Amino acid sequence: MRRHRRAKIVATVGPASAAPDKLRALFLAGVDTFRLNFSHGLQEDHARVHAAIRALEQEVGRPIGILQDLQGPKIRIGTVKDGRLDLTAGETVRFVLDGSEGDKQAIPLCHPEIFAAAAPGQDLLIDDGRIRVRVVGLDADTLTAEVITGGPVSNRKGVNLPGTLLDLSPLTPKDRADLAFGLELGVDWVALSFVQKPSDVVEARALIGNRAGILSKIEKPQALERIGDIIRLSDAVMVARGDLGVEIPHEDVPGRQKELIRACRLAAKPVVVATQMLDSMVAAPAPTRAEASDVATAIYDGADAVMLSAESATGQYPVEAVTMMDRIIRSVEGHKLYRSIIATSDPGEEETPPHAVASATATLAEAVQASAIVTYTTSGTTTARVARKRPAVPILALTPHLATARRLCLMWGAHSVHTDDVDSYEEMTTKAADCAVQEEFARSSDLIVTTAGIPFQMAGNTNNIRVIQIQ
Ligand code: PGA
Ligand code: MN
Repeated sequence: MRRHRRAKIVATVGPASAAPDKLRALFLAGVDTFRLNFSHGLQEDHARVHAAIRALEQEVGRPIGILQDLQGPKIRIGTVKDGRLDLTAGETVRFVLDGSEGDKQAIPLCHPEIFAAAAPGQDLLIDDGRIRVRVVGLDADTLTAEVITGGPVSNRKGVNLPGTLLDLSPLTPKDRADLAFGLELGVDWVALSFVQKPSDVVEARALIGNRAGILSKIEKPQALERIGDIIRLSDAVMVARGDLGVEIPHEDVPGRQKELIRACRLAAKPVVVATQMLDSMVAAPAPTRAEASDVATAIYDGADAVMLSAESATGQYPVEAVTMMDRIIRSVEGHKLYRSIIATSDPGEEETPPHAVASATATLAEAVQASAIVTYTTSGTTTARVARKRPAVPILALTPHLATARRLCLMWGAHSVHTDDVDSYEEMTTKAADCAVQEEFARSSDLIVTTAGIPFQMAGNTNNIRVIQIQ
């Protein structure tokens, strides 16, 4: 089974999609990687979905990616009187470090980090930025603020303190428990929410090791300031526009998206564009023109994957949303300007032999009009270096590691196949040719171009190219 597009689709699982027959329908419509959102649901619910996806994988005979998204240190107010307060612009309110069922003079905000970092003149944003208050006074356990933009505030709404580095561990106690649970299940990717600094990724790496890929969600301005190091330490990145768009002005998000995609392409790390892509399809069977254009833009920008959130998790039209995404991606990739746009945005490659070899593989495959590029990869790095060139020739990624085959379900253009180990270079080339035919990428007398790192066990040393004619 082969998808007729290069960019990948990630879909968030939720009540609208957790049943095994729904997961099957979503996969058949085009989902490559499923996101389990640990901000919602119980561990046992996620375990059931995980098992259903693995069963589906067996049934369809294709690797499927599973991404565990950890909630992260999201700051929230506590509970308020009658579950709701109405804040009016101009009035003065108080937040307190302890308490519950508070009124406007004692809104519970049980996060000492906020009290440590806030200063008069700064703004707190509540409920995805809908409500804005400005700090006017602060002591050890009370924060006084003037309401700038009013509105209703209900229990446990999220709070953002834009532009301030908070002294928060990227992994809360809940995240640590969820992470241990997810790694035990065998998820392929772990998404870290609200990454602020490179050491956040290092901290997660100490717990995760190589058991899953680490995807850093870029949703804090502080992360943008250290983005080079964060990308280098991560295995993938998400442009998490939901929270990012609360912390930085709306008008800055599209430019940041382009920067992040370019930086990830340069580093050969998959990049996912997320949030509100087809938002109106939560309640309608068709998207707005602007949403269709948004998905298309991410693809023209060169994103590896685009993601559905509420559309597939709680919406009324999850399958239609995936189908629409699939159609938009295919239309863009078939458009006459696509290749020239994608080539212009190529950030060039790092000047190292492995990158140069991968780049030459892509160029060579196009020059000889090969039917496929076959990468033989243990960690996925060789495939990533070829994929970052966004070649017109299809990429078949052979790997002896099922975990790698699954992780590649997030990467642009990679059709991954789990194969047996090979002992020799000759065996690898035979397998590449056989597999290209089997997966219907090539036929007798076609040319394929293979690339790999020799010796095979040493991850990341792309150093070999060969042109092979299929017998
Ligand atoms: P979330 O992350 O859906 O977990 O909040 C994505 C985003 O903020 O865009
Ligand atoms: Mn978020």
